[in-house]
Amino acid sequence: MQRSTLLPLFLVMLLSTWAISGFCQANYAFELSEIDQARLSSPVESRARLAAIPVNALSSEQREYYQYLDAYFLTFDGDLDAVIARYNVLLEVTQSADIRIRTLGSMINLLGAKKQWQEGFHRVEELLALLQENPESNYRPGAFVSLALLYRQINQPETALHFSERVLSMPDADAHNRCLAASVKISASTQLTLDSVSLSEFTDAETLCNDAKLDYELINIEVWKVNWLKQQNRFQEALNVLQLTLSQAEKFRQDSQLIEIYNQFATVHVALKQYDEAQRYAEMALAFGNIDSFIGAKISMYGVLRQLAEVKKDFEQAYYYLNEKLALEKAMFETKLANEMAIQKAWFEVDAKQSQIELLDKQNDLLKTESQLTTEQLENSLLALSLVSLLLATLLFWSFRSRKVQEKLRYFAHTDGLTKIANRGFFTESVESLLSQAQKQNNALSLILLDLDHFKNINDSFGHQVGDWALIQVAKTISDVVSESAIVGRLGGEEFGIALIVQDSSVGMRIAEECRHAIENIDTSQSGYNFKLTVSAGVGCSSHAGYKLDNLYAAADLALYQSKHYGRNRVYEYSASMSS
Ligand code: GH3
Ligand code: MG
Ligand code: MG
Repeated sequence: MQRSTLLPLFLVMLLSTWAISGFCQANYAFELSEIDQARLSSPVESRARLAAIPVNALSSEQREYYQYLDAYFLTFDGDLDAVIARYNVLLEVTQSADIRIRTLGSMINLLGAKKQWQEGFHRVEELLALLQENPESNYRPGAFVSLALLYRQINQPETALHFSERVLSMPDADAHNRCLAASVKISASTQLTLDSVSLSEFTDAETLCNDAKLDYELINIEVWKVNWLKQQNRFQEALNVLQLTLSQAEKFRQDSQLIEIYNQFATVHVALKQYDEAQRYAEMALAFGNIDSFIGAKISMYGVLRQLAEVKKDFEQAYYYLNEKLALEKAMFETKLANEMAIQKAWFEVDAKQSQIELLDKQNDLLKTESQLTTEQLENSLLALSLVSLLLATLLFWSFRSRKVQEKLRYFAHTDGLTKIANRGFFTESVESLLSQAQKQNNALSLILLDLDHFKNINDSFGHQVGDWALIQVAKTISDVVSESAIVGRLGGEEFGIALIVQDSSVGMRIAEECRHAIENIDTSQSGYNFKLTVSAGVGCSSHAGYKLDNLYAAADLALYQSKHYGRNRVYEYSASMSS
């Protein structure tokens, strides 16, 4: 080192030993804010800088800032419970609105990751109140990003979209927050209305994440873009995007992203009838040691392999993959349902606690008034009576309200939002119980699966809204054809199910045929367009397939496949020869 560079260094060292503590504290304030700025771009270095700061030399305000950053860096070690505990301590002591906003923002995402919903939703309410009280805080964009991420996680895309759009409209939001908000916006809007998303929205999100250098998020955006292109039948473009994205993702070696990309490759190749390629990617995805943690991708890959087996007319293999897929779907559905119920329950409990607090406040008010009245010796019994009845009415109102909430929850958990018939979960549950009842009473049960023909064309030609209209009409038509005792449900997209007790298996065929006929005769001009609306159906009966729902479902599905295969707008019944 040269003499000329040694001298200033020496002076700096001398100064720092002489510095009075006030000067030091000011310096630490600067150091803390620098660490804060650099925490995203160079986390390791920033963490080391923070560790070098002597906590005792800090003012109490700086100490809180230090604690926030320290807990933030601790997140990288992976022990989220420890981080949550630190944040809880900080929230107890700090008076600073900014620290509270940041802590709550970080915390709600950690609580989400740990699925601690009730605590999470309490913190959400606290954060929202705080944001309302502090409209000038610099940390609003970050807090709204946290909220958007949480709402995306709990599958409430409308709310996620709302928060992400707010961030994007804030002029002071930094590149990092803008990228995350744009990413949430894209994923939430593709989830809500695939059709109305435009390519420029993807380009905007890509630009923002490029600016923020968040390559990881960029890959997620590309995967959503692939989904969107697939939906538009732009398979070759989807393939090009995938190729570029794969080379990016290979740098990170994140299993979740690689699996998703292979999964997308396989489905796009199937659509392009490039079956060998599809097979290769499906096998690559399934070869990951931890593929079981990515159940959605695994289901999709079994779907691909099943289609490939059908192309080769290897129905035995196809049947095998179908069964595997169904078992996984069932497991995934149950986990999802349990998760959603846990989320709803947590909301309900937060709501109920809020009601309780409001009720206690009201009781308190009443007691206060009452005691005032007694001190003033105003013992008017009529007034006392009206006070009591007011209290009673309040109590009744709150208990009525919580019952209503419960009823609503049950309705939403069981009903398909669009067609208002049973959703897949409730349908499956009801059929399971009807099956065991049928078995005990030695009755036969028919399961009919209906899948609309070339439904994608309807969406593509007339728009999603007309597609939705058609789905509602089909649900109505089916419900009109079958008797009250039959169970009708929407199993997903454009697939419906009917289950009913029958005298013999021919009844199932007859009902399926009546539905097919009635759907063919739906007057589509009511939608403003004229188009053909038909359905293919498959019928399975317990007298051939037994009383296990999985087998019955597989039987009906195989029959449905025959109907599609032999030209659509027809009904087939499962027979043992189909699966051999
Ligand atoms: P196939 O005769 O082979 O069944 O062809 P298809 O086009 O009906 O089958 P495919 O499974 O390829 O397409 C189903 C389409 O249903 C794709 C999806 O966009 C659409 N879809 C799924 N759910 C909804 C919905 O809730 N509303 C609308 N409008 N469309 C939906
Ligand atoms: Mg379908
Ligand atoms: Mg279809």
